[in-house]
Amino acid sequence: MDREKWYARTPDEVVQFWQTSFVDGLSSSEVNTRLDKFGFNELAEKEKTAWWKRFLAQFQDFMVLVLLGATLISAFLGEYADAITILIIVLMNAILGFIQEYRAEQSLSALKKLASPTARVIRNSMVQQIPARELVPGDILILEAGDKLAADGRLIDVHNMEVEEAALTGESMPVRKVADRRYSEDAPLGDRKNMVYAGTSVVRGRGKAVVCASGMATEVGHIAGMIQTTTEEATPLERRLDHLGKWLVWGCLFICLVVVITGVAKGESLFLMCMAGISLAVAAIPEGLPAIVTVALALGVQRMIRQRAIIRKLPAVETLGCTTAICSDKTGTLTQNAMTVRQLFTDGNNYEITGVGYDIKGNILLNQQPLDISKDKALHQCLTIGALCNNSTLKQNNIAITGIWRTKNETGWSVEGDPTEGAIVVAAAKASIWQAEVEKVQKRVAEIPFESERRRMSVVYRDVNNNNILYIKGAPDTILELCRYYHTAAGPTSLTSDHIAKINSINDQMASQALRVLAVAYRRLTPAQAQNPDETIENDLVFSGLIGMIDPPREEAKSSIARCREAGIKTVMITGDHINTAIAIAQELQIYKEGQHKALTGKDLDAMSESDLDAIVNKVTVYARVSPAHKLRIVRALKRQGHIVAMTGDGVNDAPAIKEADIGIAMGITGTDVTKEASAMVLADDNFATIVAAVEEGRGIYENIRKFIRYLLSCNIGEVLTMFLAALFGLPMPLLPVQILWVNLVTDGLPAMALGIDPTNPNIMQRPPRHPGESVFSRGLSRKVIGRGIQIGLSTLFVFSVIYYLQNDLALARTAAFATLVYCQMFHVFDCRSETATIFELKFTSNKYLLMAVAFSTIMQLSVMYVPFLSAIFSTVPLSLGNWALVLIVSGWTLILNGFKHVFKRRPARRGFLPQNR
Ligand code: ATP
Repeated sequence: MDREKWYARTPDEVVQFWQTSFVDGLSSSEVNTRLDKFGFNELAEKEKTAWWKRFLAQFQDFMVLVLLGATLISAFLGEYADAITILIIVLMNAILGFIQEYRAEQSLSALKKLASPTARVIRNSMVQQIPARELVPGDILILEAGDKLAADGRLIDVHNMEVEEAALTGESMPVRKVADRRYSEDAPLGDRKNMVYAGTSVVRGRGKAVVCASGMATEVGHIAGMIQTTTEEATPLERRLDHLGKWLVWGCLFICLVVVITGVAKGESLFLMCMAGISLAVAAIPEGLPAIVTVALALGVQRMIRQRAIIRKLPAVETLGCTTAICSDKTGTLTQNAMTVRQLFTDGNNYEITGVGYDIKGNILLNQQPLDISKDKALHQCLTIGALCNNSTLKQNNIAITGIWRTKNETGWSVEGDPTEGAIVVAAAKASIWQAEVEKVQKRVAEIPFESERRRMSVVYRDVNNNNILYIKGAPDTILELCRYYHTAAGPTSLTSDHIAKINSINDQMASQALRVLAVAYRRLTPAQAQNPDETIENDLVFSGLIGMIDPPREEAKSSIARCREAGIKTVMITGDHINTAIAIAQELQIYKEGQHKALTGKDLDAMSESDLDAIVNKVTVYARVSPAHKLRIVRALKRQGHIVAMTGDGVNDAPAIKEADIGIAMGITGTDVTKEASAMVLADDNFATIVAAVEEGRGIYENIRKFIRYLLSCNIGEVLTMFLAALFGLPMPLLPVQILWVNLVTDGLPAMALGIDPTNPNIMQRPPRHPGESVFSRGLSRKVIGRGIQIGLSTLFVFSVIYYLQNDLALARTAAFATLVYCQMFHVFDCRSETATIFELKFTSNKYLLMAVAFSTIMQLSVMYVPFLSAIFSTVPLSLGNWALVLIVSGWTLILNGFKHVFKRRPARRGFLPQNR
């Protein structure tokens, strides 16, 4: 059978061809055989650049090439030792750069793997979530709104399914899918409505398909241009630093030129001065800055993964630290999404339901007393609707429970599917009502799936006498609008205004106890209505009852919200739930305070103009009964007020709001593929606390980047200034070319890297957010960099001149200047760990890597001074105790002085950016 003609066959033919089963799917052993035969479901990737090519790329820098050329000349001139040393240093620098890039790449590819798509299939008679790359032909795919197709498939079952195929056909309108039709063999791609293709996404409804093509055999695989290419986006900071780097290059080159010219004018050899100039340029130009920023970002991202936040776009790390408002879904993010039905209202009676979680042990009480449910017709009807209009399965120790009442081993209860529906399955089970049992006498023939906008879901059942009946459940306000009758034990009666008032008051009462309330209703259908039913038949309903369930707030959410408050971040709850439920939970979480904050519903929003909304958006902390379209308005309104908005979402229709937000956050567990794809960050645990942890990490990463920028640039200024001032004052050259290169290697290498992974300052969430447009040098950093650079330069020159003039020994003066420059930087690195605290306030041992890096660099420096063979190459001589005292005092005094300065003059820490009107 030809790959392209599946749409011309019946589902049975396709299933038979692939030797699979609608109900059981493939077996694990069959999957393995097919994986061997068809390979992984992946598109061929562009070939990776070989590691040695990337290593060689380290030498492509213009100044490094000039240095290598000059070294070659010096070798020809007989300066072998110098030439070899320079070569070794350049090589070590290249290795360092290569390792940094390699680490960044590794962490980024690990990231990609984590964010890789999954698929739901039936295998071994069970529904399983598998990595999409493991899909094989013959797999039975389960599709829902928001799923992105990972392979091509022939549909075998659909319920109101619409698929967006723009990626493949260019058609932007979703295509309604069918399963039972066949198409002629020459039907074009866009007309094959019984097929689904990799790269497209389900926007409505649900369905099942048999995978018919995977990997390069899919339609996408056949389009040559769509071979996977990965473009890495530079973050704003990387771009800005790249720009800064270009300026620094010219500045450094100019100064180097001055050093060379003045040196030559003073009678130094042209060759030596050229070597010094070039070495200085190589040392001082911070060409590695963007790479180190990437490493810091990538390492931070890895730390975030450990906290269960998966970053999909690197620039998000920077923006995270600037977040001023987090808009979070309620259900599952701020609450546990572990629902338990607590109250029930039907036929004028209020029932209480006991029990914990999904465990089916529990009773239904009327007036505090257990009752015989089989005799309470209205209650029975209400729970039966709940059990039938339901796609969740109850499980115990991973085994589906569909009707057996278990009394032993009552642990490990869980729900597969929507927790709201799971809670109703459990409540029905407490009344011994099971979907599987009821389905022995009536069968489901159709479903109109739940959608956030509709806030309801319907199913059509047909009994043995061919009677068709619609069962519906959804938000009470939505359902009540569609009802005309009221169910009583004696049968349906007309729905009166008294009934409506009573239902509304019970609904409000339940909602203000933080219960999520669902209404259930039903109606009889004519055979014509039952044929391909749609929303138009969801009317003239008989109201059956209200079901109220609790969904307790997450333990950790409250403290995370308090942290946000301290950090100047506003928390906003956005939910599809009833306003009273939302306010009750928001009060418990301290997001909402009566009188201080406002709560709006979707209807309120609809009645407001943009300017009305702008006027109060800063006060609103709860939005209830909103649909995804409202989320977009909320994001925009907050952005207009200057907020940097993080917004969560899970459903397919949340994607536009997530894209619009500064940080779009998708739910890892409940989120759809489409939402994940639009997001910048995915929460592996759907937990609000994880967002806050990621914001904290984002702030920490930015602080660390500032730390090593401060360190590297002030050190480089120190080096350039030493040489420049010496030239200016007519002093001999204080450092030889190899010495300059060495200083650069010792300081730029390990200590700078260790600063990049400095632990986050524990007070970082006690300051307001930073402005995203803020320069990396703001808040006094440029002053610090320049000031310290001058200090390092002057200190080095001071030691050099003192020893040169007092002891009249150039080699000794150079060695002392060499040591001063290195140790100034070794002391300075500790200063860079905090912009507000001194090293006396910071925990000295909290960054072990930094201690090890400094110890290693110190030993390396001592070896080039004291190991005879090395000291010959580096032209160093041993320092006397007195000289050492001078070197160490001059190098370290600033650190100690700064410490004292901080003790006496503490500046307030609260400086930063806050949007207007807050
Ligand atoms: P969040 O708080 O994360 O926005 P939510 O569950 O409150 O989530 P939706 O999922 O959009 O928001 O649900 C909106 C409303 O639809 C709910 O308040 C509830 O009344 C109703 N509803 C939710 N799940 C179902 C379902 N499975 N079947 C029928 N109605 C449902």
